[in-house]
Amino acid sequence: MFNFNFLKKRKAVEISPTSQYKKPEIKCSNFILLSGPAYGDKTFLGSFLLDVSLSKVWMMEHSNAVFSSAKLEQEARIFLPTWCSNVTKDDDAYVTLIDIQMRHVLVPYTYDFYLKDFLKIYCHQCHSYCDKILDNSSDVVSDGNNRSWIEEWHCSNGHVLHRKSQELRLLLRKK
Ligand SMILES: [Zn+2]
Repeated sequence: MFNFNFLKKRKAVEISPTSQYKKPEIKCSNFILLSGPAYGDKTFLGSFLLDVSLSKVWMMEHSNAVFSSAKLEQEARIFLPTWCSNVTKDDDAYVTLIDIQMRHVLVPYTYDFYLKDFLKIYCHQCHSYCDKILDNSSDVVSDGNNRSWIEEWHCSNGHVLHRKSQELRLLLRKK
C-alpha cells in the first residue's frame, strides 16, 4: 500500500505577520498523542501514540529536511526536536497532548511511524493496545482525472482504527 498522505489537502492557514508559534509550557513525556478521540478526531477512532525516545532522531532529521510555508507549522517543526531532546523512555507518567501545529507536522507520517515501530496504537473497543494495523483500504476508483479511495485501518479484531476518504486530482499536461 502506497502512502499518499503527503498529498493530503491542507487547510489554508492565514496568519498575521506578527503572529508567532506559542510554545507549550508543559514538559514532553515519552508518549505524544498524535491522533484519537481525545482530540475530537472524526477519522482516527483508535488512539495513536508516538514514542518520543525512539523518534527523536527522525524529528531532528525531519526539521532539517522539510520546510513548510505555513509559518506556525514550520516553527513547530523546528521546535519539536528541542522540546523532545531530554525525554527518556522513563518519562512515561502521562501522555502528552500536542497543539494543532505539531499535529500538522506529525500526523501525516502516522503510517511511516507505524512501519518504523515508533507507535503504540490503542483500540478503544478492545480496550487494549494492538500489535499491528490491518490495512483494509479500498481500491482506487478512477473517474476522469480524479482518483478516490477509502483509507481504512483495522485492529486484529476488525475494529476501525482509522477511516478517511482520500481524493487525488491528476493535473495532466496538454499534449
Ligand atoms: Zn479492536
